[in-house]
Amino acid sequence: MTTKPVLVIHGGAIYGEEDYDPALDAEYRAALRRSLNAGYEILENGGPALDGVEAAVRELEDCGLFDAGRGAVFTSDGRNELDASIMDGATKKAGAVAGINKLKHPITAARKVMEETWHVLLIGAGAEKFGQQFGLEMVDPTYFFNERKYQQYLKLKENEEKAKKHETVGAVALDKNGNLAAGTSTGGLEMKHWGRVGDSPIIGAGTYADNTTCAISGTGEGEFFIRTSAAFNVHALMKYRNMDLVSAGKQALADIETLGGSGGLVGVTPQGTILLECTTGMMFRGVKTVQMQGVAIRMNEQLA
Ligand code: ASP
Repeated sequence: MTTKPVLVIHGGAIYGEEDYDPALDAEYRAALRRSLNAGYEILENGGPALDGVEAAVRELEDCGLFDAGRGAVFTSDGRNELDASIMDGATKKAGAVAGINKLKHPITAARKVMEETWHVLLIGAGAEKFGQQFGLEMVDPTYFFNERKYQQYLKLKENEEKAKKHETVGAVALDKNGNLAAGTSTGGLEMKHWGRVGDSPIIGAGTYADNTTCAISGTGEGEFFIRTSAAFNVHALMKYRNMDLVSAGKQALADIETLGGSGGLVGVTPQGTILLECTTGMMFRGVKTVQMQGVAIRMNEQLA
């Protein structure tokens, strides 16, 4: 029996119109659609959920709009430090990288860690050396320099402000064989301390996948996602409390809010149920299934 594939993506959760540049509206939506198409094509042709997730995330890393890959934000000392993770719901194998700036596609590096080592998380120079040994595309750190994000950084620095935007990207997929996968990629929080690692490369915090429950990718204030094991929390609420995906997702976000944090979660179950929830008012998101394809940004907006 084959399952109908599903791909759900996000490009981060933001607080509202003041954090949103309407001049980029069409570009944002086009990038989300490209990501959906890249990932879904693989799933439609019978490819594994992991491939669908990786392809969808790579597209978002390349577009330079979101906080991942070429759109990565800056640390408080003006550098880019990228994090990513991926998890296979069938085997519960996982891979991740943190604090890198020389590997072109962090999500692919994460997958290599999963497939070629017995480790889960490699950081900094060790991750980069490993990627190089396995033939991953290397870039000069300046590849990640994004003028728009740099201007944003200068402004925040001048006003000694903390970041309010969370434009991390992620994808979750269900493939024709009923397997789930999840992946997340980010430049982290703007103005983060150098060396800071958020939830995105932490399995169970920003990413989780288990074929018996769900695949989850998160975005928001990573510290709260780590402290509540947010992605694992959704899985655990489903597994041990028999909650449905949407209720579990809402509960995980409520647990984050209780601590004073906010953000969003996307997810999918083996039955194809979808989660698209956030507590910030806006979340770049998209869904593609056999029946429909749509993207949306504001939470009161239908997928279209
Ligand atoms: N969760 C990410 C982090 O804390 C930020 C984001 O979602 O944009 O690194």
